[in-house]
Amino acid sequence: MISPMGRVVVVTTGGTIATISDGDGVKRPTRRGADLTAGLDAEVIDLMAVDSSQLTPADWDRIRSAVASADDAGGVVITHGTDTMEETALWLELTYDGAAPVVITGAMHSGDAPDADGPGNLRDAVTLAGSANACGLGVLVTLAGTVWQPLRLQKAVTADLRGFRGEVLGTVADGLFTAQRSKDRPFLGPLSAADAPRVDTIAVYPGTDAVAMDACVAAGARGIVLEAVGSGNAGRAVIDGVRRHRRDGVAVAVSTRVPGGKASAVYGPGTDLVDAGAVMVPRLAPAQARVLLMGALAAGSAVEDVFARWG
Ligand code: ASP
Repeated sequence: MISPMGRVVVVTTGGTIATISDGDGVKRPTRRGADLTAGLDAEVIDLMAVDSSQLTPADWDRIRSAVASADDAGGVVITHGTDTMEETALWLELTYDGAAPVVITGAMHSGDAPDADGPGNLRDAVTLAGSANACGLGVLVTLAGTVWQPLRLQKAVTADLRGFRGEVLGTVADGLFTAQRSKDRPFLGPLSAADAPRVDTIAVYPGTDAVAMDACVAAGARGIVLEAVGSGNAGRAVIDGVRRHRRDGVAVAVSTRVPGGKASAVYGPGTDLVDAGAVMVPRLAPAQARVLLMGALAAGSAVEDVFARWG
C-alpha cells in the first residue's frame, strides 16, 4: 500500500536491527537496507553499518544530510543502534524543522534471532513515517509499538523490548498511529554537530577532584555536563573547579547519575554549584544534557534560556 503521505525513505546506520552473529557469536551490523526493508513499501539509503557506540557528532550531520536529501519524501525512517539513539534523536530534533516525520527505530534482539523484533519495529516505523497524524511532529522514536518524543528519552533497560523510558506520545499497531498527547519541537537551528563546541561529561563520585574537568577544558571544551550525585550535588573540588572555569566562560550544566532523578539546587552543594555559575538540568539525563548544551553553544543561544525551556 502506498503511504497517504507519499514515499517513505529508510536511512540505515547499523545497530542491533542490522546484526548477524559472526562465527564467534559476536553481533555485527552487516545487514543491508534492501534486506531489512524486504516486503515494505520504502526506498533505501544505505548510509552506515556500525554499532551506534561508534557514531560521532560528524555522523549526526551525515544522518541529518541524508534526511535533507530525502526532502521530497512523505516521511523518513532511520534505523539505528539503541545505545546512542537518544543522542542522535535529540540532535536531529534540535536541527530539523521540516514537516515530514523523521522516525528512528532499532531493535533489542539481533536481526538473525528467531525472536527478532527489528522487522516489526521497522514496519511500525514505516507506518508512522507515512502517517498523516505524524506530519509536523518532527522527530519520533519507536520500538515495540511505543512512540516517544526524543526529548527526555533514555535507554533504561536491556532486557525489555521497549528498551527506553521517556515521554510516550502514542502507539503504533496494525498499521495505525494513535497519538495520545502533543509533542515538543525544540528546534535550535540548522546546526552542524561537527562544528559545535566541544562539550564533555564529567562523572561525580566520592572523592572526585578537578583533574578530569581541567583536562577537558585544556582539550578545548567550552561546555561541561556534570553527572552529579543525588539531586545535583558534588564535592568541594568539583564546585571550585566549576567556579574557575565559569570565570573563563565555560558553560556548566548539572544533571544526575540517578536514573529518573531530577537535578535541582535543594542541598548545600547543589546551591553552591548554581552560585558558582552552573545551570541545573531537572529533566534530562547526562547524555541528552550534553547534546542540548552542544546545541545551545552551537546556536549561540543563552544556555540558561535553552535549559529553562528544554532541560
Ligand atoms: N550495540 C547496539 C548499538 O547501539 C545496541 C542496539 O542496537 O540495541 O548499535
